[in-house]
Amino acid sequence: MERYKENQLKVYNSLSKKKEDFKPITAGYVGMYVCGPTVYSNAHLGNVRTFMFFDIVYRYLLHLGYKVRYVRNITDAGHLENDAEEGEDKIAKKARLEQIEPMEVVQRYTVDFHNVLKNYNFLPPSIEPTATGHIVEQIEMIKEIIEKGFAYEVNGSVYFDVFEYNKKENYGILSGRKVEDLLHNTRTLDGQSDKKNPQDFALWKKADERHIMRWPSPWSDGFPGWHLECSVMSTKYLGESFDIHGGGMDLKFPHHECEIAQSKTCSGVTPVNYWMHTNMLSLNGQRMAKSTGNFILPNEILSGENDILPKAFSASVVRFFNLQANYRSILDFSGEALEASEKGHSKLMEAVRFLDKIEASKTSTFNVKDWVATCYVAMNDDFNTPILISHLFEAVKVINQIKEQKASLTAEDLLEFKETLNAFVFDILGLMNEKLQDNSGKINGVVELLIKLRKEARENKDWALSDQIRDELIELGIQLKDGKEGTTFSVN
Ligand SMILES: [Zn+2]
Repeated sequence: MERYKENQLKVYNSLSKKKEDFKPITAGYVGMYVCGPTVYSNAHLGNVRTFMFFDIVYRYLLHLGYKVRYVRNITDAGHLENDAEEGEDKIAKKARLEQIEPMEVVQRYTVDFHNVLKNYNFLPPSIEPTATGHIVEQIEMIKEIIEKGFAYEVNGSVYFDVFEYNKKENYGILSGRKVEDLLHNTRTLDGQSDKKNPQDFALWKKADERHIMRWPSPWSDGFPGWHLECSVMSTKYLGESFDIHGGGMDLKFPHHECEIAQSKTCSGVTPVNYWMHTNMLSLNGQRMAKSTGNFILPNEILSGENDILPKAFSASVVRFFNLQANYRSILDFSGEALEASEKGHSKLMEAVRFLDKIEASKTSTFNVKDWVATCYVAMNDDFNTPILISHLFEAVKVINQIKEQKASLTAEDLLEFKETLNAFVFDILGLMNEKLQDNSGKINGVVELLIKLRKEARENKDWALSDQIRDELIELGIQLKDGKEGTTFSVN
């Protein structure tokens, strides 16, 4: 259904700092690129917030009837420590520390990332390209930038000439920074930088002897600069100009600014029409970041294995928690906030589960058409999920009134009501009806109950029942272990 024809989506564009009408380059088609993870460690919940928001954008665009090509890359090479221009490749460093092959690190954390996305009910992107799979294209783009006079080679490394670019273009167009004022990271591991100006950034770095990840190039055996892969892969899969580019706010500068400079140098056209940036997730009021140790892993929430949590929470509750805040606001994560979300989430799900039991009446006491319109208005307003959720709770109120026979809907209204509520809850917000999920928390509860019943059987010297419980659990792959502290179990 081409719902986009009657829904004018507005998008907050970080480039113009305004909400703008969304008009794709080709009617009915959307090209979207989102900077993916660097797979040198587990993605923390702050990273997941960004990907979750763009999952909602993707889902809503699909719901509106757009054909979407969604590209989200995997950075498996070229990302330097501290995002500085000098230093060791993050992936190579991790490999050296753990004495394993760099591609082993990449494989481990790519699998972990995919596992998190699956647990949290993400739709897979249309294409998930890797930096190492596009070294040839990256070398070609560097050649082109050198030919055009915006990059130079020094001692086997190639740098983008920011001052030269800024003579006719605006380096700082996205971040609002002025080249002259740019405070630069002067930290250099080799003691001396080869760059003409500290603002210049690496397109290719010569690898030293210790550096395992290296490829031959016209300049040296080395590796591409981190900013380059996104210009190369977005152009390759979405064209020189495409609709939406997304990422976390921290990528605006220098990463996205550099992407614009590289792409525009090669194509001469504006590469991206709508830049979208998500705000950060904080933990205890401070930015969630791997480097400071102030973070929580998405799978720790599902298992409850983190001291800051009172218990385990389901992935759907975490999604709900995230979507209760606007993506452009800072969101603070805490166990209490999750508990509050869990209450709201179960109220919503309980109401949704009751939908099928509702019977139609002769009259409607609720204006379904108006309510449906408000849901779309919320999402069309720059994907305003907190407002949408408040409208979903109006529906919960109606369902509860129907339960108490204080409200009614005609057959036609009931159908539209059900379809819309299901579409927004499951297809667009990606929430999950937990009754249908394999819920390990509940299985644990059932096994604990059986352990208790077996203990009682043993106290009553009912050895037959006690053995039966133990043996039948073994058949299900659950092993009981009796110890001094009581009975524990393991699942095979
Ligand atoms: Zn990127």
